[in-house]
Amino acid sequence: MNAQGPTFSLEPALARALYPGTFDPVTNGHLDIIRRAAQLFDEVDVVVAVNARKTSLFTLEERVELVRACTRDLPGVEVLSHAGLMVECLRERKAQVLIRGLRAVSDFEHEFQMALMNKKLDPECETVYLMPSEQYTYLASSLVRELAALGADISEFVPPEVETTLRRKLAR
Ligand code: ADP
Repeated sequence: MNAQGPTFSLEPALARALYPGTFDPVTNGHLDIIRRAAQLFDEVDVVVAVNARKTSLFTLEERVELVRACTRDLPGVEVLSHAGLMVECLRERKAQVLIRGLRAVSDFEHEFQMALMNKKLDPECETVYLMPSEQYTYLASSLVRELAALGADISEFVPPEVETTLRRKLAR
């Protein structure tokens, strides 16, 4: 750090970013963010989080499998899971940046709090926010789950493999 603030560079070291989330299930909005991140960073680890505060519809393994199936063709993208602090995962993976998606102002307060707390836990942790294409700004996994449970067409919001798995899950 100098008088002008922190000095860091994404080069020449490999720039690796983590994109953490619950992904219950992964949507076209998440995939939009993953694609954008993959263009900005050499490597993007999508980290499916074990979230004790949230009960998920899909198991951790199912969530990982679905993200993996949907990102297979994206070079530099890896999918893993993590239980515990994301700053620990950041250190383990030797990454510099956390990616989060911002849909609307409503996301901001929670995201702001998380970014500041992560910085407190690890002053080297930088959070980068990416905005999705406009058509995904109202898309959320919770909404997709609700729509699917009510029998609505969700093909516009999730990839086909997610739609099939979600329908199968809800039919049980
Ligand atoms: P979390 O429980 O961590 O919020 P989510 O899977 O809901 O997990 O979201 C992971 C990240 O992706 C969050 O930063 C969230 O704001 C972002 N996100 C979710 N849906 C979208 C979307 N449609 N467009 C852009 N970002 C999104």
